Amino acid sequence: VTDPAGWHPTACILCECNCGIEVRLGGDDGRRFERIRGDKAHPGSQGYTCEKALRLDYYQNGRGERVTHPLRRRADGTFEEIDWDTAVAEVADRLKAVGAAHGGETIL
Ligand code: SF4
Repeated sequence: VTDPAGWHPTACILCECNCGIEVRLGGDDGRRFERIRGDKAHPGSQGYTCEKALRLDYYQNGRGERVTHPLRRRADGTFEEIDWDTAVAEVADRLKAVGAAHGGETIL
């Protein structure tokens, strides 16, 4: 329920603690997190947030260097874009090899 000042109660999703936060929306499209604060009424976190929650607008709306494709590391340490089918197949092959060498329980 949004309060008269425009604060929406919600939860931070950046780690398993799921601290209660309140956000006030703004920006040209009304979808930016104009302000973020801890929700003092939340029974678990009681108003606490770490600094990551206060940067949720940046994580959600930042235009910076967002990873939008799978990246494969080259031998020289740089990365190359690969398609999803290739990425999933290569990861599956590596997991199968680890399972075969060390037992399936090592990759659970
Ligand atoms: S505010 Fe920090 S500790 Fe709480 S859920 Fe978000 S990332 Fe986790």
